[in-house]
Amino acid sequence: MSTKHIVIIGGGIIGCTSAYYITHHPTFTSSNAVVTILEASSVAGGASGKAGGLVAKWAYPKELVDVTFAEHERLAREHNGKERWGFRYTGGGQWTGRGEDVVRDAGEMTSKTSLEKKEGLVSGKNTARRNIGLPDDLDWVKEDLTDAYEPMAGDGETAQVHPYQFTTSMCALAQEKGATLVIGKATAINYSGSGASRSVSGVEYVNEAGSKEVIPASTVIVAAGPWTSTILPSVPISGSRAHSITVRPTRPVSAYALFTEITLPRSSFRTSLGSPEIYARPNNEVYACSPGDGEPLPSSTKEVKVDQQVCEALFKQISAISPELRGGEVTASQACYLPNVNSGPRGCPIVGEVDSAKGLIIAAGHTCWGICNAPGTGKLISELVMDGRVKSGNISRLAPRKFF
Ligand SMILES: Cc1cc2nc3c(=O)[nH]c(=O)nc-3n(C[C@H](O)[C@H](O)[C@H](O)COP(=O)(O)OP(=O)(O)OC[C@H]3O[C@@H](n4cnc5c(N)ncnc54)[C@H](O)[C@@H]3O)c2cc1C
Repeated sequence: MSTKHIVIIGGGIIGCTSAYYITHHPTFTSSNAVVTILEASSVAGGASGKAGGLVAKWAYPKELVDVTFAEHERLAREHNGKERWGFRYTGGGQWTGRGEDVVRDAGEMTSKTSLEKKEGLVSGKNTARRNIGLPDDLDWVKEDLTDAYEPMAGDGETAQVHPYQFTTSMCALAQEKGATLVIGKATAINYSGSGASRSVSGVEYVNEAGSKEVIPASTVIVAAGPWTSTILPSVPISGSRAHSITVRPTRPVSAYALFTEITLPRSSFRTSLGSPEIYARPNNEVYACSPGDGEPLPSSTKEVKVDQQVCEALFKQISAISPELRGGEVTASQACYLPNVNSGPRGCPIVGEVDSAKGLIIAAGHTCWGICNAPGTGKLISELVMDGRVKSGNISRLAPRKFF
């Protein structure tokens, strides 16, 4: 049997998790498959290191979620994910209420694009909406500011990971099994043959010293998130920038992920409504992100611009509903790009082999659920590469031909 030369373009969560599953596939040996992760800047330097990290049975699309949630649980058990990447189950809900006057001054967001996580929820299906009243242990948002709280799902249906720790762990575990990480920017995919026998033959890239190199390949997995169309221009994926912050609260807070709708007082805010997502994390950290904006995609993760005013406005909004956050310390102010798919089945990433070139696989466009759906994607991709077909699910709806 000839050796497979597998090049994965992109060291985000999708690329690294695919490398993990290929190198942990039952038939993988370091002599029958050579796996290279080609990353332009740094592993988890984009959204995969700066996302919230929510993992949910109620996420979408179902084809991936059906595989991914159980895989997150298994990976955490097998590799001590609790310590290594902060895996834990979490409570969560939709919180609607009013913010109170806060003294810190800051700019406000100018345009808002919902990250659309809530589309996977069926309102009222799991638990009846409570009018006023919070779970007893959700004591870090003020009850007297709460108009409504609706739990998102039942116990054990929502979990979380620390995205940066998860992605870098997947990369390290793949490297332990023989995968190689190369820092360099892919500039072209090479092909041989034509018509029905056209297949990938290699990936051209520019290394850190600025020299051009080629890695031979029999399989190329393009997992470059929002940058995928810079490598394959016909792929309908774009990026939208979103800001986030992490905060060390004044005391450890209980494990809840909140989708908020905050009516803000005109006296201290320039906008009347804020909708930050707020996730308590282990190790006394709280993550919050704001809706996306229209800032164009830069050439690499290193060039992403952070608008400090947006981060300050985000902190001010979450401060308006929680004294524990208001008195806390902001430990990171950052921005990253969400990969959006502009055509094809709604809410679906593109996962599968391209019809026009044997060995060319796309795994990109995971929108607001890439952290959740990475293990499902990686497992199914590993079957496609190592077994020649996807065995653990049916992802025909995600095939590239459905999108372009
Ligand atoms: C604010 C925010 C919060 C989020 N919260 C959650 C959440 O709670 N749960 C969830 O499931 N999802 C969440 N997401 C979505 C999730 O972050 C993304 O879907 C996921 O990170 C996409 O991973 P990726 O590997 O496809 O892309 P990326 O993380 O963008 O990685 C792509 C990689 O490809 C590299 N690359 C690009 N071009 C090249 C090239 N030419 N050559 C080599 N390498 C290249 C880049 O440097 C980058 O490292 C959130 C997203 C945002 C923006």
